[in-house]
Amino acid sequence: MSDTIKQSLGVREICMNDPIPEMPISVSPTPPSEAEVLDAIEQSVRRTTKAYGYQHLSTIGTHLRAQFSVFSPSDYGCKTLLQLIERHPDRFKVKWSAPAHKGRSHVWIRLAGEPKRKEGYSSKPTLPPKLKPRLMTVREFNRLCESLGEWLEAHQCDGSLRKTRQWLRRRDFLSLEGNTKLIKQLGGHCDCEVLMNVIEKWSEV
Ligand SMILES: [Zn+2]
Repeated sequence: MSDTIKQSLGVREICMNDPIPEMPISVSPTPPSEAEVLDAIEQSVRRTTKAYGYQHLSTIGTHLRAQFSVFSPSDYGCKTLLQLIERHPDRFKVKWSAPAHKGRSHVWIRLAGEPKRKEGYSSKPTLPPKLKPRLMTVREFNRLCESLGEWLEAHQCDGSLRKTRQWLRRRDFLSLEGNTKLIKQLGGHCDCEVLMNVIEKWSEV
C-alpha cells in the first residue's frame, strides 16, 4: 500500500457544517515510512556531541518519539528500535560500551558512512572556541617561581619537574609540554633548578 493511500484512509474528511468537536478529532495517525524513520535516526545521531559521533540509543528513541506521534518498531517488523537499526548496517554502526552487559543503556549508534570524528557532529555553540595553550608570560613565570619557592622551603626537590608541571596543569590555558620544554632548554631539569637556572631568563615570547 502506498503512503498516499494509507494517508487518505487515515484522514477523515471534515465538513464546514460539522459541529466543533470538544475533543481534538482523532485522526488515526499514519506511522512514518521506514525511510522517514531512518532519516530521523540519522538526524538524531548527527545531533550528538559525543566522541566519535556516537549517539546513545535511548536518546535516539526519545528524538523519534518527539518527532513522530506514532512510532513503533513493530510497524517495520522489528521487536526493538535496535533491531531496526541493525537491519541497516550500510547506514548505522552499533557498539556496546560494555560487552559483558548487552543492555539498552550501553548501546551506541554512529553513522556508517561518516568518518569517525573525535568531536562528534554537533558543535557545542555555548562554549567559546578553546584557545591554544600558550607559553607563560614573565608575570606568570614569576608566580610559578613564587609557588615553587614556598614549596621548596618546606620540601626537598625530588629531582623532577613535578611541582612545576602540577602548577602548569592547573592552568589549562598554559601549554604543559611547551612550557616544560622551554624550561628544560633554559637549564631547568627539576623544580629547584627552575629557581636556580631559569629565573631571570624567562622572557616574553
Ligand atoms: Zn632539584
